[in-house]
Amino acid sequence: MTGKPGGGDSPVSGRRGEIDRATSLIESARNLVIFTGAGMSAESGIPTFRGEDGLWQGYRPEHLATPEAFERSPEVVRSWYRWRRDLIEKVQPHRGHQALASWCLHSGKKSCVITQNVDGLHQRSGCPDVIELHGSIRHDRCHRCGQRALDLDAVFCSCGGPLRPGVVWFGEPLPEAAVDRSLEQIDDCDVMVVIGTSAVVHPAAGMVFRALEIGASVIEVNPAPVLPAPVLHISGTAKEILPRIFSTGSVNGENPA
Ligand SMILES: [Zn+2]
Repeated sequence: MTGKPGGGDSPVSGRRGEIDRATSLIESARNLVIFTGAGMSAESGIPTFRGEDGLWQGYRPEHLATPEAFERSPEVVRSWYRWRRDLIEKVQPHRGHQALASWCLHSGKKSCVITQNVDGLHQRSGCPDVIELHGSIRHDRCHRCGQRALDLDAVFCSCGGPLRPGVVWFGEPLPEAAVDRSLEQIDDCDVMVVIGTSAVVHPAAGMVFRALEIGASVIEVNPAPVLPAPVLHISGTAKEILPRIFSTGSVNGENPA
C-alpha cells in the first residue's frame, strides 16, 4: 500500500502532507523517543479491556488489576493473567511493530521505545531498547520483597511471599528505574512519536509535555489524535501508518503480514 493523496471532502487516513512532514522529522532526528500504548497492541489482537472487551468471566479489569484483588483472591487474579499470557503467546507483532523495530535497528540513530504495554510485542518484533513503564506480564515478581521470578508456575518466592504478575496495578507507583530512564531519554530527545495512546492522563501526559517543554517535535499517531498544537497529528492506526513513516529505504523497510 502506498500513500493516498490528501484532500477531498472527508478526512483521509494519514494525509500525504502530514506523512511527509513526519518522515522528514524522523529522518533528521538525532535522538528519537517512541511512546506507545494499548492502541499499538490492539491490531495484533490484544484486547484493550474497554467497551466490548471489558469483561473477563464477569469481572471488570479494574477490579482484578489491583493489589487488593490479589490479596483477596490471588487465584482469580492469577488465572486472569494466565489467560492473558496464553492469548499474547498466540498473537504476533504486526507490520507496524516490525517497521518500527527495523528502523530502530537499522537507522543508525539513537532511539528507544517507552511503552505502557505489558505484552512484550515490541521486544518480540526485535526492538533493541524498550522501557516497560507498566512492567511486564511475561514474568512474575514477589508481592512482598519484589524479587523477579521467571518460573511462571511457582506460587511462592523463596522469602515466603506470594508471587504475582510483574505488572503495575491500579494504585501502585510506576517502577522508579523505568521512570528515571524514560525521563533521561526524553530530556535528550529531539523528536517524540506518540502511538496508540491518548496521552492525556498520567504518566503519558507528563512525558509528552516534558518533550514539548524542551523543544522536541512531537508526532501523534492515533485514529483520532487529541494532543494540542504544536503536535503533528497523523490520523490512522499504528499498523497502517508506521510502515509509512518508519522507512529505512532498502533495508527491510516493510514486511507485510
Ligand atoms: Zn520474596
